[in-house]
Amino acid sequence: MEILHVSAECYPVAKAGGLGDVVGALPKYQQASGHTAKVVMPMYRTKFLMDNEWDVVHKGYTNLGDWWFTYTVIKERTNKLGFDLYLLDINGLLDRDRIYGYSDDPQRFTAFQISVVDWISAWKHKPEIVHVHDHHAGLIPFMFRYCYRYKHLQNIPTILTIHNAEYQGWMGWDKSNYIPAWDEWKSGMLEWNNTINPLASGIKCAWKVTTVSHSYLDELKHNSNGLEALFEYEKGKSSGILNGIDTKVWDPAVDTYIQDHYSIEDYEEGKLRNKKILCDRFDLQIDKPLIVFIGRLVGEKGADLLPQAVGDSFYYIGRKMNFLILGSGFPAVEAQLNGLQALSRKDYSVYIGYNETLSHIMYAGADFILMPSRVEPCGLNQMYAMRYGTIPIVRNTGGLRDTVIDFGDPGGYGVRFNNTIVGDITQAIWRSVELYQRKEKMKEIREKIMQLDFSWETSVKQYLSLYESIVVQK
Ligand code: ADP
Repeated sequence: MEILHVSAECYPVAKAGGLGDVVGALPKYQQASGHTAKVVMPMYRTKFLMDNEWDVVHKGYTNLGDWWFTYTVIKERTNKLGFDLYLLDINGLLDRDRIYGYSDDPQRFTAFQISVVDWISAWKHKPEIVHVHDHHAGLIPFMFRYCYRYKHLQNIPTILTIHNAEYQGWMGWDKSNYIPAWDEWKSGMLEWNNTINPLASGIKCAWKVTTVSHSYLDELKHNSNGLEALFEYEKGKSSGILNGIDTKVWDPAVDTYIQDHYSIEDYEEGKLRNKKILCDRFDLQIDKPLIVFIGRLVGEKGADLLPQAVGDSFYYIGRKMNFLILGSGFPAVEAQLNGLQALSRKDYSVYIGYNETLSHIMYAGADFILMPSRVEPCGLNQMYAMRYGTIPIVRNTGGLRDTVIDFGDPGGYGVRFNNTIVGDITQAIWRSVELYQRKEKMKEIREKIMQLDFSWETSVKQYLSLYESIVVQK
């Protein structure tokens, strides 16, 4: 089967979060299972672009409303990622330093999608599946179905995977001329709550919709930033497929970001060596449990509660643990977390920013990882952490609910709490600190979580059977 993935992110080319990880890994595993998987994404000005060699495979000319432009598709020469990687360049629009966050993002991603569809039109054969990810590629199923000039692409089955439904790519109707002429009777397929909503359009027009965990799909019917009724209505074609993790990249025995490697055989010493690196660098105490947070400092992740949760833990539980936080996001949260540094008694530190290397050392060296998320579509951190023998402390939501069982329940191995409130977080930290004292139990849990199977193989099979259910028989 030939599958074309369309995405705004793909690790290691450009990643802002889980979307990048998934699009960097899923195609690799699909390719390894005997299929042809390709990825096309915008050509940002990234290190990966500069460091690799590229062939121009297509040049096209198309328009975004009245603006006509040339676009170029380049392909990485050596198949470095284990699948064909294509970058699409639109001069001045996509070739920027950051992935998102520009005022003209609607233009950027609409022009990207139009160019992708235009490029597919030029292929001699057609892909059997076009798999689009999140709202940045959400208009493609609509274009295939209803734009006059792409009528010949109508029969290509499309799948939309939702990694995050909070962001929907809203555009006012004043921008409707961006989208190539379509059958006006179908305007409803673009629209939700009086705006053009690319994510809603993708949900309506894609042949199948998936979310990155089962629980997240259930929750979206009750809480999805305005799309609740749509998720309920389209439930017949929707399913949840849990992300896997790239066990070749995320493996403490070979991880290229860490120096002190370890496996299930020698994890106790290995984790301790990594913990020491963190304790030395951040002035923490090695004999106390190390609780880390890694992620975007935004409301979805419950990051706004971290400063008080840290303060309350020290106050109510005592200074029995270390905290180390890595992330960036809301300036107010960053400032509060930085402020706490002054109160540290060699038991608290924070690194504001994005740092891939540090994150890997933290997965390896930490005892616990805290994830007080309000919303967590799948969550990769808890799966990475477990592979590195780090116990997850998670809120009972989305993918966290699907991957972590509380150690108090039969067969359990993590710490789970119900509400994103400081009291619940502090209580979960307290339970974790107590658990840390029980050496045998800690050992049992660590050995168990390091061996849990979160590899892509299972998810790849589920995606393939979904593709098979819609692929057009020739
Ligand atoms: P989301 O995509 O919602 O941000 P996920 O759990 O799906 O959350 O993916 C988060 C990914 O981003 C993980 O690989 C995590 O290690 C990484 N990450 C997040 N913030 C940082 C940071 N500040 N530095 C390094 N890696 C980070």
